[in-house]
Amino acid sequence: MRVTVIGSGSRGNSLALQYRGQTLFVDAGFGARTVVKRLEHCGLETGNVVGVALTHEHGDHVRGAGSIARKFDCPVLGSDGTLGAIKDDLKEIVQTTLTALTPTSVGPFRITSCVTTHDAAEPVSLSIEVPNGCKVGVAQDIGRATASMKYMLRGTSCLVVESNYDEIMLRSGPYPPSVQQRIAGSSGHLSNRAAGALAAELCHPGLEYVVLAHLSERCNSPDAARATVATALKRRGFSGSILVAGQTEPTGPIDLHGVDQQLELEAG
Ligand SMILES: [Zn+2]
Ligand SMILES: [Zn+2]
Repeated sequence: MRVTVIGSGSRGNSLALQYRGQTLFVDAGFGARTVVKRLEHCGLETGNVVGVALTHEHGDHVRGAGSIARKFDCPVLGSDGTLGAIKDDLKEIVQTTLTALTPTSVGPFRITSCVTTHDAAEPVSLSIEVPNGCKVGVAQDIGRATASMKYMLRGTSCLVVESNYDEIMLRSGPYPPSVQQRIAGSSGHLSNRAAGALAAELCHPGLEYVVLAHLSERCNSPDAARATVATALKRRGFSGSILVAGQTEPTGPIDLHGVDQQLELEAG
């Protein structure tokens, strides 16, 4: 499986997951034109788009959902609450409801969702598996990491986790106390420290990449996020790579090997 971050941050979030010519977008903070352009920038073709899976209805995650679904004639997938919140944007688009902890298959992608505590109608974190054993976990805008979310995200080859703010930069930054509380609360975002703790808890020998996503432009820096998460992962003996996703440029492509290919390599 190949993962490309189209862009990540408060101005738009989207990932392209690709497997054998099939493409699944996770979140759609950008329209079809930008998505195609950024994939081309990475030397990638868009391929056969099989769906757009959404984590929640905030504009930075859904703004381009209708545009992508119409251009590629594919379904939009999301929780009941998410689809209900954007139903006006999805007229005449095929919609597939994701039921929590019940896998849904679209093309070669097997999608499982788990409800999060973020301040949206029915936000979810996602895990996406393909037949060769690769599994990508997406945990952004999650508020807090719950036990069932951690269970769903175990054994990922690539973990995309929000690392939204540095705790000191948030406290000393430009936001009034009420906004600071919202960001740091259980319906807000994960700090670098919380992202590091979650990544460390989910660390296992098959974890190839940790991608830090949704960084605040005001209360974080790529260096601060990377350093905090790297320290937490080092204690767990993480031997993969940490990437920091950008807002204005794509990150990737990230090529995952997965269990099958690792076994083949070991077998010689
Ligand atoms: Zn959100
Ligand atoms: Zn967001």
